[in-house]
Amino acid sequence: MPKHLLADLDRLDFDEVVDRCRRVSEPFRVTDGKGFRLRDVDPDDTLGLRDDDKERSEAALAVGVRTLARLQDVLYAQDRWALLLVVQAMDAAGKDGVVKHVMSGVNPQGCQVHSFKVPSSEELDHDWMWRCVQRLPNRGNIGIFNRSWYEETLVVRVHPEILASQKLPKSLVTDAIWDERFQDIRAFERYLARNGTVVRKFMLHVSKKEQRRRFLDRIADPDRRWKFALGDVKERGHWDAYMEAYEDAVRSTATEHAPWYVVPADHKWFTRLVVAAATIVTLADLDLAYPEVDAVKKRDLETARRLLAKKA
Ligand code: ATP
Ligand code: MG
Repeated sequence: MPKHLLADLDRLDFDEVVDRCRRVSEPFRVTDGKGFRLRDVDPDDTLGLRDDDKERSEAALAVGVRTLARLQDVLYAQDRWALLLVVQAMDAAGKDGVVKHVMSGVNPQGCQVHSFKVPSSEELDHDWMWRCVQRLPNRGNIGIFNRSWYEETLVVRVHPEILASQKLPKSLVTDAIWDERFQDIRAFERYLARNGTVVRKFMLHVSKKEQRRRFLDRIADPDRRWKFALGDVKERGHWDAYMEAYEDAVRSTATEHAPWYVVPADHKWFTRLVVAAATIVTLADLDLAYPEVDAVKKRDLETARRLLAKKA
C-alpha cells in the first residue's frame, strides 16, 4: 500500500519530497501528444485527496514552496539553466493563483513573470513570436508566462477575425496555418531546450460548470469584482471550440523536452500542488550545483578572512 501522498511531509528528506512530487505530477504529464484526449482528464480529479485534506495540502504546498526556494537558489548561483513555465487556461481557471502561491517562496531577484495580453500595434508589426522572445528568462532565472505564444493557436484560432488583423501577407494565410504554427512552436521549443532554457507547459483544465461558479463568486465579492470582464462570459459561448483548440495544441506540441501538464483545475489547492510538484521535479532533474570555488578564489577568500580578522 503506497503511503498517503501527503503523509509525514515534515519528516521527509529532499529525495523523498522529490519522489512525492513525481507521484503528484506525473499522472498529468504529456510527453507524446499522439492519442491525447482532453476528455480523459477530469477537471475534478484530486488523485483521491479530498477537499477536507485541505489543511494537509496547504502544509504540503508550504513544503513544496520551501523546496522550490532551495532549488532556485542553486539555479541562480549556477547561472546556466533557465526555467520557463508557460501557463495557459480558460478565464478563472486559477492562473493568477498558481503564480502567486507556487512562487511565494522564491527570491524575486531570480524570477520574471510576464502576462501576455491582446497584442499592441507595435507587437502586431512583428512576427508573433517577437514579443515572447523579448521576455524569455535569463539564465539562472525562473520565468513565468501567464499566457504565451500558445494564444496564437487558441484565441486566434477560435476568432479568425484576429488572424485577419495580424497584417500577414495574404499568400501566407492558408488552411495549413495552424499546422505551420505548431511546427514553428515545436521547432522553437526545441531550440530553447538546446540552449538551456527548460520549458514546461501547464494547461489548467477547469470545467465549464466550475468556471460559472467562480464567475458568480467574483461578481458577488467586492474585493474580486475588478477581475471580472463581460467579455469573459461571452468567451464561454466558444467553450467547445476552445477545448478543441487546446486538445490540438497539446497533441501537436507535447514532447519529451517540452511536455505539457494538463492539470485538473476544479480544486484550486490541488492545481497549485501539481504545478509546484512538476516545477520541483523539473529542477531536481537538472544537474544543479553551486559553482566550485577555484584555487585563485580560495586564496582571495583566505586573504579576505585574514584582513577582516586583523581589523577586529
Ligand atoms: P487573464 O484573463 O489572463 O487573467 P486579464 O483579464 O488581466 O488576464 P485580459 O485583458 O483579459 O487580461 O488579457 C488577456 C486577453 O488577451 C485574453 O482574452 C487573451 O485571449 C488575449 N490575448 C492574449 N494573447 C493574444 C494574442 N496573441 N492575440 C489575441 N489576443 C490575445
Ligand atoms: Mg481576462
